[in-house]
Amino acid sequence: MQWESVLATRSSRMKASEIRELLKLLDQPDIISFAGGIPDPALFPVAEFAKAMADAMTPARAEAALQYSVSEGYLPLRQWIAAEMARIGVPCAPSNILITSGSQQALDYLGKLMITAGDTVLCGWPTYLGALSAFNAYEPLFEQLSPKGNVSAADYEARAAANGGRAKFAYLSVDFANPTGETLDRRAREQVLDLAAEMEIAIVEDAAYQALRYDGEPIPPILALEIARCGSIDAARTIYCGSFSKTLAPGLRVGWICAAQPVIDRLVLMKQAADLHSSTLNQIAVAQVAEAVMEPHVEMLRDPYRARRDHMLAALDREMPEGVTWTRPEGGMFVWLTLPPSLDGAELLAASLETERVAFVPGRAFFADGSGGNTLRLSFSCAQPEQIDIGIARLGALIGRALA
Ligand code: PMP
Repeated sequence: MQWESVLATRSSRMKASEIRELLKLLDQPDIISFAGGIPDPALFPVAEFAKAMADAMTPARAEAALQYSVSEGYLPLRQWIAAEMARIGVPCAPSNILITSGSQQALDYLGKLMITAGDTVLCGWPTYLGALSAFNAYEPLFEQLSPKGNVSAADYEARAAANGGRAKFAYLSVDFANPTGETLDRRAREQVLDLAAEMEIAIVEDAAYQALRYDGEPIPPILALEIARCGSIDAARTIYCGSFSKTLAPGLRVGWICAAQPVIDRLVLMKQAADLHSSTLNQIAVAQVAEAVMEPHVEMLRDPYRARRDHMLAALDREMPEGVTWTRPEGGMFVWLTLPPSLDGAELLAASLETERVAFVPGRAFFADGSGGNTLRLSFSCAQPEQIDIGIARLGALIGRALA
């Protein structure tokens, strides 16, 4: 079979990452890994989920738990999320919430909803690789959302028009972003709102890590700032993507979109066409566990993650040679390193795996334009203190030798 002749053009844009092969080595027991950006499985609320799953399987509840259900999502879960959104400054109704199979599915649906081939998506340089992959399937161009707000709406529009499309939305991960760990301050959030209003484009606000703040004061989500301006979620241009992956468990694949009614109405049809609904049983279990323990559970997560972040920052302070800089995240799972321009993150990874047995993610894949070769992402979420000490010392020594 000559598959090429039957494949859609968009499929050629779906590429395996160049570093995937290298990262397969992570299974080897002697590797110290700062690569995977995943929650520590030792911190999953296992007993609570065991109880919730067993409760859902009692005779009175099992038929509903194992049955098809509505595309919008399990109502008690949407009610819990609506109350949680109100708590963070986003008053909304359960009808403003669509349950998705993780926030990754939300990104795919939003690409499908808004991008016509040739349109432009504004995003950070770097940005979440999974968002680039999700949107890429719909054949957009990516344009750098200027961090300092020094590109005018007219300039963005002219660039998008020159590419034959129009700008449709800005995608931002605002708290403790993947990959940089950085947080957008309130003023920058307001500037993004101003720009989006001027350009008449949507904002996709990815809040995957929002609950995992270890210090500093929470900053209202862009959607909350917008509702303070426009008065109602149904008048808002910001589409908020939430997730239970980092707070409860990613394997259940439960996330949500919170947005204006006309957006949700269209997304519900999309969900129906794509997979009917997310797992009924998983939604029921997540609703019960969130209701029972979300607040104390997230509080409990903060201590180990904060301690690992502090340990990694201290090790970097101690071990990194002159010329290397890094972010100091207030939450989330990532620290982002910038090396002197003469170094390449992918080459460093190859050397590191061979001689130091330390893994991380080279930064280039997070840049839509393929720049950022001298950057890398370190995750502290699953690393124990002694591993951090050894791994960062080895990495610092390797970088020092490469610079010598
Ligand atoms: N957004 C960001 C910024 C992420 O880092 C991730 C997971 N790595 C996701 C979305 C997707 O998470 P999930 O589908 O598990 O909710």
